[in-house]
Amino acid sequence: MHYPDWIWHNGGIKPWADATTHVMAHALHYGSSVFEGIRAYDTPAGPAIFRLDDHTRRLYASARIYDMDIPYPREDINAACHEVIRRNGFGKAYLRPVAFRGLGGFGLSADTPTEVAVAAWEMGAYLGDGVLEDGIDACVSSWQRVAPNTIPAGAKAGGNYLSGQLIAREARRLGFGEGIALASTGLLSEGAGENLFLVFRGALHTTPVSAALLDGITRDTIITLARGAGLEIVERDMPREYLYLCDELFMCGTAAEITPIRSVDGRQIGSGKAGPVTRQMQELFFGLFDGRTPDVHGWLDPI
Ligand code: PMP
Repeated sequence: MHYPDWIWHNGGIKPWADATTHVMAHALHYGSSVFEGIRAYDTPAGPAIFRLDDHTRRLYASARIYDMDIPYPREDINAACHEVIRRNGFGKAYLRPVAFRGLGGFGLSADTPTEVAVAAWEMGAYLGDGVLEDGIDACVSSWQRVAPNTIPAGAKAGGNYLSGQLIAREARRLGFGEGIALASTGLLSEGAGENLFLVFRGALHTTPVSAALLDGITRDTIITLARGAGLEIVERDMPREYLYLCDELFMCGTAAEITPIRSVDGRQIGSGKAGPVTRQMQELFFGLFDGRTPDVHGWLDPI
């Protein structure tokens, strides 16, 4: 990984080497951080951040769930996202705002000061080169997602990603591109760091927010674009076997964008390639960044 020259940390921009924290920080021991993953794209009108406001709103929502005070107004975090892109001279980039309980006590309920950072780096396809075209082989994880009223799946918090690490590392160890998790109900939930869409006879099906998942902004983007294109959207609980019966399957997320899934547990999905609905969604989605899809929702925030 190539690290960026400049990072925003606790109120201002700093050289990469100065953006440090202490090993005794609360978050390092207890997972007490909340964060976002945001992408900026190089559009014909210059670099633009995708759905920045929606991401920073979710950052503050995650902090609220964990009773964490972020000591800056949301506008400052939005401005910091712009600044790290500008200062590092990036076009296409991945942005990572993070807020965490810092140094100042070791009790679980300690009121430690919240530290905030915003980093950005250049990143291609998250699940590997060529996966947006060729798709990935996925497996159902032996690890379930968190149960309701244990760790809130709807918060994008550091500790939640222990679950994601178990799922993703198991999949990689077994030779798969990504793992798909079931909820504690045994019904479909989501990928380690991605939401799921299944296609049945041209209609797009996705799992509901009650299925122990993160309410993804890419998921919402796909639902909105698909509705605009006249596709039917079905949001409902689905059993595991639907993975083996659907015509097409894809994962989505800020990092994964729209990644086709060509097989699950060794069973081929559809033709084993990105199907027509998946390709249509990819065209509409990536069209937002090269001008083919008009930005009627004001999702692009120019730098
Ligand atoms: N689920 C999980 C667990 C994730 O980490 C992510 C990535 N943030 C998503 C879904 C997709 O969310 P988004 O589209 O907002 O990036």
